[in-house]
Amino acid sequence: MARLVRKEYLLAPGPTPVPNGVSLEGARETIHHRTPQFKKIMDEAIEGTKYVFQTANDLFLIASSGTGAMEMAVANLVSPGEKAVVISVGKFGERWEKLCKVFGADVAVIRKEYGDFVSAEELEDFLNKNSSASVVFATLSETSTGTVMNVEGFSSVAKKHDALLAVDCISGLVAEPMKADEWGLDVVVAGSQKGFMLPPGLAYASFNERALQKAEEVTSPRFYFDVRAYAKDPAPWTPAVNLIYQQRAAVKLLKEEGIENIWERHAVLAEATRKGVAALNLELFSKRPGNVLTAVKVPDGVDGGKIVSIMRDEYGVTIAGGQGTMKGKIFRISHLGYVSGFDIVVAFTALEKVLRRLGHSVPFGAGAAGVMKHLEKEGC
Ligand SMILES: *Cc1c(COP(=O)(O)O)cnc(C)c1O
Repeated sequence: MARLVRKEYLLAPGPTPVPNGVSLEGARETIHHRTPQFKKIMDEAIEGTKYVFQTANDLFLIASSGTGAMEMAVANLVSPGEKAVVISVGKFGERWEKLCKVFGADVAVIRKEYGDFVSAEELEDFLNKNSSASVVFATLSETSTGTVMNVEGFSSVAKKHDALLAVDCISGLVAEPMKADEWGLDVVVAGSQKGFMLPPGLAYASFNERALQKAEEVTSPRFYFDVRAYAKDPAPWTPAVNLIYQQRAAVKLLKEEGIENIWERHAVLAEATRKGVAALNLELFSKRPGNVLTAVKVPDGVDGGKIVSIMRDEYGVTIAGGQGTMKGKIFRISHLGYVSGFDIVVAFTALEKVLRRLGHSVPFGAGAAGVMKHLEKEGC
């Protein structure tokens, strides 16, 4: 049997593929962070990131993974004993809940099953019953299930109830429309290894006036993630200098393409993926699938873990399996960041090969053809 060249295809919802130009930026000489030279780079990186967030509010670049920015939101928005509402439809909603508990908040959770979503009306009902809540924590794209939620709707409801809204846009940003200022979001957090096309290690948080004011009042202990330190000096501790070079390069690429075009590109890839899933007679897992990733139910009689491991170890295609209780029940194909239509075609050809090997017969090329037909229709 001839051995073929092996290439790697990273189609997991973080870390995502890094374009060469962005990788090379990271190899530039490290300079000192307390210099006018670095300040200029940092300022440009922040400005570009604000464009992606669609905000004119303060935005901080933090040396941590995305969870650090989530911790920053919680530590600066809720005092011990204060009532906070968490919208939870998966693993990352559960992370908001855990963080709120660690900081001693009185947490009320609107919980739905994995795969389901919470509507703005449901948040409204919930806030009517929990009227003392002063902060709501939500997720734009619940990565564990591929579900996107109506954050704009959450924002108007939260405003009516005079509650602050903090949104985890860690996987959603870049792939899903998100307009922090137009939608009136108080705190938005994101991370580098998702839609921004960077390696892991950088997180971002935007805070509006209301949120910064709240940070002055809360009594939670905080140090590294004290937003007041960042508001005084964007680099209160040593920033991730080389990642910030990369951030500046990545946001330049994003700005050149234009945020609306980027949203459209993700929408096309997501729909092409769903068409591929349908062409293989497989079922989507989410009731409200988004443009970040597509979660698919593992067909009966097939070992879901094996789909993921064989695709990765034998064909070089890394997708994600299910997390927690979803383990073995779903697999997740990401179309986030630096991903082309052909990458999705490759994912489907590998998926078809593996499904056949695992005894689930699908015709060769059916899923890939479903993807191609949609790309063709969109002129891609
Ligand atoms: C990836 C992700 C996180 C966690 O980010 P880390 O960088 O792993 O800390 C949080 N929320 C969502 C929605 C994510 O996709």
